[in-house]
Amino acid sequence: MTPCKAKLPDGKFCDNKVDEGQEFCPYHLAEQITMPKKILSVALPILGVVASAVVAAVLKQITGSSKSE
Ligand SMILES: [Zn+2]
Repeated sequence: MTPCKAKLPDGKFCDNKVDEGQEFCPYHLAEQITMPKKILSVALPILGVVASAVVAAVLKQITGSSKSE
């Protein structure tokens, strides 16, 4: 039996059983999959704010330069 590679909050390794060919127990395997989704759900709104700020800056540049011509 291979032990789960995930570490618990108290610093100990998880002692759940690991499925054959896997590095984590089913519980931590699910956590590994949901982690990128959590990061995406946090990163996407930030990216949206950055993107709209860039668009606003570009529009300002375009309208500003057209006025000066
Ligand atoms: Zn585990």
